[in-house]
Amino acid sequence: MKLHEECGVFGVFFDDPAKDAVPLVYYGLFSLQHRGQESAGIAAACDGSIEVRRGMGLVGDVFTPEVLSQIRGSAAVGHVRYSTSGSSAIENAQPFVSRFKLGSIAVAHNGTLTNADVMRELLEDSGVGFTSSSDSEVIVNLIAKNYRKGLERALTDTIKFIKGSYALAVLSGDVLVGARDPNGIRPLSLGRLDGGWILSSESCAIDAVGGVFVRDIEPGELVIINRGQVLSFSFSEKTRRAVCAFEYVYFARPDSTIDGVNVYEARIRAGEILGREEAERAGAPGKVKADLVIGVPDSGIPAAIGYGRATGTPYGLGIVKSKYIGRTFIAPGQASREKAVSVKHNVIHGEVRGKRVVIIDDSIVRGTTSRRLVSILKGAGAKEVHFRVCSPPVRFPCFFGIDTPHRKDLVSNVNSVSELCKFLDADSLAFISLEGLLESLDPQRAGNTENNGHGYCLGCFSGEYPIPVPGEAGMECGRA
Ligand code: SF4
Repeated sequence: MKLHEECGVFGVFFDDPAKDAVPLVYYGLFSLQHRGQESAGIAAACDGSIEVRRGMGLVGDVFTPEVLSQIRGSAAVGHVRYSTSGSSAIENAQPFVSRFKLGSIAVAHNGTLTNADVMRELLEDSGVGFTSSSDSEVIVNLIAKNYRKGLERALTDTIKFIKGSYALAVLSGDVLVGARDPNGIRPLSLGRLDGGWILSSESCAIDAVGGVFVRDIEPGELVIINRGQVLSFSFSEKTRRAVCAFEYVYFARPDSTIDGVNVYEARIRAGEILGREEAERAGAPGKVKADLVIGVPDSGIPAAIGYGRATGTPYGLGIVKSKYIGRTFIAPGQASREKAVSVKHNVIHGEVRGKRVVIIDDSIVRGTTSRRLVSILKGAGAKEVHFRVCSPPVRFPCFFGIDTPHRKDLVSNVNSVSELCKFLDADSLAFISLEGLLESLDPQRAGNTENNGHGYCLGCFSGEYPIPVPGEAGMECGRA
């Protein structure tokens, strides 16, 4: 089982009102499909009103040619969503649209509000109705409630009240707005098109639609895209960058660059550092002389390449992943999850037979996938299997938009490394250090730990979060 990203947002604004932004948003969502596979939606602004189409499933399933032909507009926002099985419902699919006397707005949100319950209660007490259980609807209702002050004021007032993580793409009349929370926990980037602008969770989707990456939206920044101009405002004086480290480890696509750090290069560096840390342990238990290093597809592969370079261990493919199976965790229940793992990964027997194999994965969460991988490698004749992980042990839950199990189900929280090694039935097990992970993310900033000077959220590894989080007993954060 992996941790899961919960959303991706994408918005396009054309200066020319005759142009249609919907096809580009559709392609953009395809490129963000890895961030959410449960539902997809597009809202488009046309002649002062907003039309939305949302559905359960993958982008290609929801947006048939017939559905796509039903909406058009020179500005549009789209959303892909992942959620836990309990909240899988069309009501929670985004973008959320609110229509009121003064206009309409559509909101696409990636992240989780840590004060959603309080805000929802306040809004309900003032007569606002909700149609979903998603905390993103709190945002749309807050903006709608304040809309008479003008869009910009409504947005800044809304943002003052909400806490947690958010990357927002908001559509209102003929304006596209982007906003990123004061810690910049979730990514959001700005791109340029011929005659238009793009907002995207990841830069890979800007490339995919033929746009040019301009820059990341800064933590605590609001950008308002109108005909011919992009206005930028800082809405918070207390910004402190704390980008989710897991974006680089696993969630984001390797062809994305987030806040100046390329995801592929960070993964290569993580593998090199794992190898270096391995060498530093030379002579101590855990030092491995291996015949082959392999990566668990997809995100473990760059790390395996880096590890091979750093240690001189030959890199090989070893494990093949089915391209046509959904993410493991989508299968509900332990039994079907384990089955899904064996359908998902298979071993190239001839590559591993009789060899001492180092296998590198991006993370271990529940441990079921890792144990299965060790088992299929041994079943294929690997002489030894040494498991390496290019993130530190995940011991704490995430409160900022990533679906994590309860602490008791985080295998590294309830087991020591040696106990976990036994559980996996591996010949050895080692994780990258927290310092090593930081170095992989940004060699320049890694040493600066003062006041979170490294600029990353490491909450699920260290238990230290960039902002206050709800007590775990009541950890029912709404999910975007
Ligand atoms: S707690 Fe972990 S998964 Fe959540 S935002 Fe922080 S680093 Fe990312």
